[in-house]
Amino acid sequence: MNETKPRAARIDRDWKVLCQDIGVRLAGTDGEEWAARYIHDEFEKTGCENCHMETFPCRSRRKTEVHVEADLGKGWQEVESAAVTGSSSTGGTVEGEVVWLEMPEHAPLLEPDSLSDRIAIIFGALPEVVEHHVRLVKSRPLAVVHVDHRLPFDWAKNDGTYPLWVKKHGFPPTVTVPFRDAWSWRMTDRMRLRVQMEMEMLEGESQNVVAEIPGSDPDRGVMLIGAHHDSQAGNVGADDNASGVVAILELARMLQARDFRRTIRLVSFGTEEQLSVGSARYVTDHRDELEHIDLMINFDSIASPLGHHQLFCSGGEDLANYTVDLLRGNGLHVQLKREAVPFADHFPFTVYEVPSLWFFRENFPGGRWQHHSVHDNLDNVSTSVLMDVVSAVCGLVEDAAMRGDLPFVCGLDPSIREKTLLFAKTLYELPE
Ligand SMILES: [Zn+2]
Repeated sequence: MNETKPRAARIDRDWKVLCQDIGVRLAGTDGEEWAARYIHDEFEKTGCENCHMETFPCRSRRKTEVHVEADLGKGWQEVESAAVTGSSSTGGTVEGEVVWLEMPEHAPLLEPDSLSDRIAIIFGALPEVVEHHVRLVKSRPLAVVHVDHRLPFDWAKNDGTYPLWVKKHGFPPTVTVPFRDAWSWRMTDRMRLRVQMEMEMLEGESQNVVAEIPGSDPDRGVMLIGAHHDSQAGNVGADDNASGVVAILELARMLQARDFRRTIRLVSFGTEEQLSVGSARYVTDHRDELEHIDLMINFDSIASPLGHHQLFCSGGEDLANYTVDLLRGNGLHVQLKREAVPFADHFPFTVYEVPSLWFFRENFPGGRWQHHSVHDNLDNVSTSVLMDVVSAVCGLVEDAAMRGDLPFVCGLDPSIREKTLLFAKTLYELPE
């Protein structure tokens, strides 16, 4: 029997298993492995073929302890804080005067050893170009306190740094604090901070979960649909990215028992939150198969109640037009974005010229207000929004998988290729 509509009860059950029964799904931990096993078993139950797990080594964050205290002239006060994955430890408590760095414009002021007795507070983004990263490392601050200018709230977000840069150049002990605390700190001339940041990164094992709905014509290419099941530290990632996993599980159920010419492959990736480690591993392990993949569809963070559906298309205008029209015909209106974005699982595929569509739902300029915080929970995701995405994408996949020839040329848009290759080299060291 064909399932033409997504079902709320199944979606809600998957979401509860991932976010309530399992909870936090940090790379390389039992939580992540439990999620992978659940996804695998659900794929099998739907009738998918070739269901299997592909395991790979990953860095796994354990035993984190963070404390930040501020003295603004009235004694020491503890401040909420969170550790940045990948940074080094303080080895005890460090104390010092603070230096405010408005980034990136203050990066040129950093000199070797210039911060060796002080604590740097970065307002803005952590370094986004490698020269700034290296300048910061060489300035040797006792610790770095990050204030994310995109999130003007009273909680500290969880985050990570670029693993490749950490491996090559190191990274100072780095924590995040709430925007609202830093706002009041900036009102005083003299303040001191104490920071303690201990984090153990162990060798762990992560999983990509793979399943297929085989097509009838082996000469036709494969359509790959993906999402990631790991979460950041300290939150259950109901939107980022249980929403994407729930979407591919529901699509797996809806796409069964059809007469497709093309094979549909579903992949739930591990360790995305350390910069798409699972999907990068998938493309290197399956490199000779990539030319048979016609399209990669990625779901990451798609279920904010309020928001704009955004579609990041790395393929040509023909793919963009075909997709936007089909989605609209199936009731989903999207903002089309033609940009290379290196922060999600479609990116490693783009590096090998597999055109991609990344579905995202923005609810705050440039992102999501609940990003990597405790607020990314089941109270803040919408089943009906998710169902709109799933039913429209189901229509798109059905149309493309039935066709002999696709109505678009497989490959990247020239405007995206150049940026893609730059990000690939500087952030991923791809292609290998
Ligand atoms: Zn994500």
